[in-house]
Order: sequence, then structure tokens, then C-alpha cells
Amino acid sequence: MIVVERIEDVRKELAAVRVLGRTVGFVPTMGALHAGHLSLVRAARASHDIVVVSVFVNPAQFGPHEDLAAYPRTLESDLKLCEGAGVDFVFVPGADEMYPRPPGVRIVVAGLSEPMEGRARPGHFEGVALVVAKLFNIVGECSAYFGQKDAQQLRIVRRLAADLDLPVQVVGCPTVRDADGLALSSRNFYLSADERVRALALPRALFAIRDAAAAGERDARTLLARGRDELRDVEVDYLEMVDGEDLRPVDAPPALVCGAIRVGRTRLIDNVEVT
Ligand code: AMP
Repeated sequence: MIVVERIEDVRKELAAVRVLGRTVGFVPTMGALHAGHLSLVRAARASHDIVVVSVFVNPAQFGPHEDLAAYPRTLESDLKLCEGAGVDFVFVPGADEMYPRPPGVRIVVAGLSEPMEGRARPGHFEGVALVVAKLFNIVGECSAYFGQKDAQQLRIVRRLAADLDLPVQVVGCPTVRDADGLALSSRNFYLSADERVRALALPRALFAIRDAAAAGERDARTLLARGRDELRDVEVDYLEMVDGEDLRPVDAPPALVCGAIRVGRTRLIDNVEVT
């Protein structure tokens, strides 16, 4: 496994493997790797000759009052996990490498960026779109693996690649959960034992909605009220039932149900598909 810090070196290394006709699977991350990230690596490994993981805590996607400074940084263990998972290249740029000057370009993926996380975190998806566009340009032709856990981000990245004709096939992968249902997230590192128990309200709410829909309830308001019952003891940022493609609110399934809650100082998001 080769660790690369400079953009120029990523380009050189990947040009050399492409000459040999090898295909590239790419997994962008912010590090603090867990089994969710590793599931993306496995998917990339299964379909490609070369697997590239990037580890970059992207300042551009954090708001001024968010957790950029506190975000877990565990590079040593990240590299071990990558090595164990058969990763070929880990790209670990510094902030100066990615942003040698304040970026003059802004990328807005209109529509998809506006609801839910876009409303709760102004500027977040502009930061995501910018870093993903840069990473796709650096890595070049590849399949890029993203988690359904960040459902809105996945749709935004797909649209970004399509609208800009980037030579990247965006692949969505299922959410990996702990045995008790909590979606794995680097932000789970922040939770105390008591907060972790309270955080389970979010998957419980989403699963309750999914089960009620499976049992025949079709009305979005009734279904969302059922979910809100489970969220009585946590601060709810939003709980919405939206179209799985364009993320507009819908009155009935099939739909994506997305939620964001705060437990103590930690903000968690999750979603389920309801058919
Ligand atoms: P992050 O490091 O949080 O930016 O996440 C990097 C990638 O891993 C994104 O595509 C996430 O959607 C994905 N990811 C994070 N958590 C999970 C999970 N529990 N299951 C599947 N993918 C995940």
C-alpha cells in the first residue's frame, strides 16, 4: 500500500496503472474509518484492479460553529485498516495541498442541495461538491463508492458527476449498522454510553415508519407521526418523507425517510427506504 500526500503524485501513480489497462475504484472519506467505510472499500475491491481511498477532513464542508476542530482524526489506525482491506493507494492531502488559496469556484447542485441537510447546514453541500469535484479530477476515470447513509450527499454527487460529464461512475452502497440498529458513523465516537442509548431513537423511528408502511399505512403524515413518537426524548432537526430521486416531499411511499437528531452535542443523520 502506498500513501500519497501530493496531488501530482496521485496523478503519476494512477497514470502508471492505467497504462497497464487497470481500472480504479475510489472511496473518498474523512477518515476515522469504521466498518461502513470498509464496506465501500470491499465493494471497490470486488470490481476493480486498483483501490484508492482518500482521507481528508474537508474544512469547506464544515460551518463556522460545527465540529471541524473536534472531528476524530485517527490516521494511524485508518492506514492499518486500509492495508488490511487490500487498498492500493491512500491519498492523505494536507489542507494546503487541497486549498493552496481560497477557492474562487463555487459549485451549487441546485434543488437537491436545498432541503434537509442543506437547510440545516448552510454551505455544507457547496463544500462537499467542491471537494468531490476536485477529488474526481485528481483521481480521474474511476468508479466512486458512496454510502446510502448520506443519502442526500449520494444524490448530489451523482448529479455533480453527470452534469459536469466527469468520467466517474458513482456507486451507492447500503448503510452498515451496529447490531442494535445504530448506523455506523465517525460521529458516534463522540457519544457517551448514555447518549448512545438515546441515539437509538433515530433508527427506531425510521424502522417504525418502515414497518408501519409495510403493514399497509400509506399516509406520510400518519407515518411521520409514528416516527416522531419514538423521538420524544431527543432534539429533532428534521424527519421527512421525500422522493428517492429528487428529494421533494411526498404524501406516501415509495419514499426515502430521512432524519437528523441531536443527542447532547452530537448531530446524527440516518435514513431508510420505505416501499
Ligand atoms: P465520511 O468519512 O463520514 O465522509 O464518509 C465517507 C463515506 O463513507 C461516505 O460515502 C459515507 O456515506 C460512507 N459511510 C459512512 N458511514 C457509513 C455507513 N454506516 N454505512 C455505509 N457507508 C457509510
